[in-house]
Amino acid sequence: MYANVLIEYPVKSLDKTFTYIVPDNLKSLVKVGVKVTVPFGNKKVSGVILGLSNTKADFDMKEIISVDMPYFHLNEEQLEIGKFIKEKTLCPLIMAYQTILPSSLKINDNSRDYSKYISYLKLNKEYDSINEYISKNKRFENQINLINDLLSNDKVLKNNYNQSSVKTLLNKGIIIEEKELSYRININDIKDHKIVMNDDQLNVYNSVDLNKYATYLLQGVTGSGKTLVYMELINKVIKNNKTAIVLVPEICLTTQTVQRFYNRFGNKVAVFHSALSEGEKFDEYKKIYNGEVSVVVGTRSSIFVPLKNLGLIVIDEEHSETYKQDNTPRYNAIDVAKFRCERNNIPLILASATPSLESRARAMKGVYKLLRLDKRVNNLLMPDIVLVDMKKENIHNQIISSYLYDEINKRLVNKEQIILLLNRRGFSTFISCKECGYTYKCPNCDISLTYHKISNKLRCHYCGYFIEKDDICPSCHHDSLNYLGLGTEKVEETLHNLFTSARIIRMDQDTTSKKGSYQKIIDSFANHEYEILLGTQMISKGLDFKDVTLVGVINADTSLNIPDFRASEKTFDLLYQTAGRSGRFNKQGKVIIQTYNPDNNIYKLISMNNYDRFFEYEMNVRHTLKYPPYTYLLLIKVSGNNYDILSNKVNDIKNYLSKNLDKSFTILGPTPSPVFKVNNIYSFQIVIKYTKDNNLNNILKSLDDIYSSYKDVNVDYIFNPTHF
Ligand code: ADP
Ligand code: ZN
Repeated sequence: MYANVLIEYPVKSLDKTFTYIVPDNLKSLVKVGVKVTVPFGNKKVSGVILGLSNTKADFDMKEIISVDMPYFHLNEEQLEIGKFIKEKTLCPLIMAYQTILPSSLKINDNSRDYSKYISYLKLNKEYDSINEYISKNKRFENQINLINDLLSNDKVLKNNYNQSSVKTLLNKGIIIEEKELSYRININDIKDHKIVMNDDQLNVYNSVDLNKYATYLLQGVTGSGKTLVYMELINKVIKNNKTAIVLVPEICLTTQTVQRFYNRFGNKVAVFHSALSEGEKFDEYKKIYNGEVSVVVGTRSSIFVPLKNLGLIVIDEEHSETYKQDNTPRYNAIDVAKFRCERNNIPLILASATPSLESRARAMKGVYKLLRLDKRVNNLLMPDIVLVDMKKENIHNQIISSYLYDEINKRLVNKEQIILLLNRRGFSTFISCKECGYTYKCPNCDISLTYHKISNKLRCHYCGYFIEKDDICPSCHHDSLNYLGLGTEKVEETLHNLFTSARIIRMDQDTTSKKGSYQKIIDSFANHEYEILLGTQMISKGLDFKDVTLVGVINADTSLNIPDFRASEKTFDLLYQTAGRSGRFNKQGKVIIQTYNPDNNIYKLISMNNYDRFFEYEMNVRHTLKYPPYTYLLLIKVSGNNYDILSNKVNDIKNYLSKNLDKSFTILGPTPSPVFKVNNIYSFQIVIKYTKDNNLNNILKSLDDIYSSYKDVNVDYIFNPTHF
């Protein structure tokens, strides 16, 4: 028997299988999809078997050395998904498979077994003079306690007893130890609140045909009860002995969602996200692999889980950028979801209050089936949205306008809660010298340093570079540094000064880096240990606090001013979603948006609080400028650490494309990337606009063949970039 093995090196020149002999002792273990160790050159490397055959090759073949972890392997569906990702993103196949596997099971990993065992103690049935032992050893109280417990219980937890007594009894053969496999995450209590769907929800529920492939776009305003609808659908799926995957953006947004799934489905749920420990991920994957769960709730990479008998996939907050991986392979979980749903002939539900323009446009054309929930549950009203023109505020109110100040005070008096958004962390994002104009920049990246007051450091948010802050300008040595560019830390300080009695908690990347800290902040805010929750976009989605009646956006312009054709869309999403955190229970909510550009159309559209109006407006803009959804975009990022070589090669690449792509393609650039240098790597970009992909992938593959011989230059294809 012979095996075709794809080896672990993720380079394009080795993107093919190699044939090995399967030795007799391994024949019972090998199958397609298992991980093996093979000789390669004079090294031992890992790989995955992609095919088995009985035809001998005409060269001298080597033998497979070992089969690793036979109980974890890529199943047929996962093997197909890998090929799909390779085709979509033009990455080497092995890279696609590495992406599909969870971190502890990677093909090039040592495959540690993270299984956790719990030790129990039992009486040794062969020992027949237990009563005699007890009467002779009465003074060893710990031993006697343990024996007595075992006389009335079949087994006890080893950890609950005095370990030297345990050892003595084990040595004497009076008791025995048994290990049982256990899972780190174990949810036993189901707390189903038994909410019944209202008519609108029921309507949506009944519109989804679980027996065939289709993509549904569920557009439902914030608080319209989308989650309940798909939990009910999942319930039906489970009753049919099938399984479901639910994708949610990032874990900070998911803690409450995960809890709702646990409450409803208990131990039938496995979770999968980056905040789990290696051991937890291993366990959850094992539950899925062994078919012990019916629902997987998790972030992007959960789309790959080997759930059998799939019946439904739901992607919540489908417009979220987190569904596209930001490094190679740059797959989009929505594409993978479609692939799996089509393969299994089951529905895909994309849900959002603010669908991406692409998705909404597909629904208009009938490619997706549009389902709507236009009202909040329990007749709650959408919050009122008020714009504040910051240009009219006096100098003392540059951070908190007088209107926002008054409204916060009212909430504090009424014991209601407040959420404030500023989409920038740190204290001050731009420090310059008033004397000589010096600005602090990262030496590795083309970006200014952000001052973090708590640690008293200036940090680069791209590469992590930092220096201690010192009040003297390094250039002219004057003591006249100016702190510009507002960050969450500074807002927090201001809030403490303005509202001395209020308890304030900040949620951003800096306060949530420790495991469990999101959950802690969310829980403590929900328990009214704080009146004000201040945070970055982390607080904008999915959270459901019943006493929040005011949401304030400190500076709405931060995301509007970035040079990106999606800036309006992103700003609308962020503000609409954040606004949706307000008034989710029985009190009318209010949203205050502070801006220096109140005349910008986006703010008018946001104050109307109507996604459809925004969609109409923005589609017109895109049409005029020939941007998606009216065109497709491909961003080719060419990067390297040698500036001269790089600028030459990027022009070669541009010329190659101009020569080989037909006139229907518009090629823009090359231009330096918006952040030109990150970690001492320079990058240029070429943008291609097109409406039909006439042979595009093949031309890119041939381009790949040429540039992969260039040293020092890396070419990366980013289809449908989220930004450029
Ligand atoms: P969305 O995801 O659309 O923003 P959620 O699913 O979070 O909305 O629902 C908002 C709130 O309304 C939740 O607290 C949820 O438990 C509650 N809810 C949902 N459906 C109903 C219903 N039919 N009756 C009562 N409460 C409901
Ligand atoms: Zn840097």
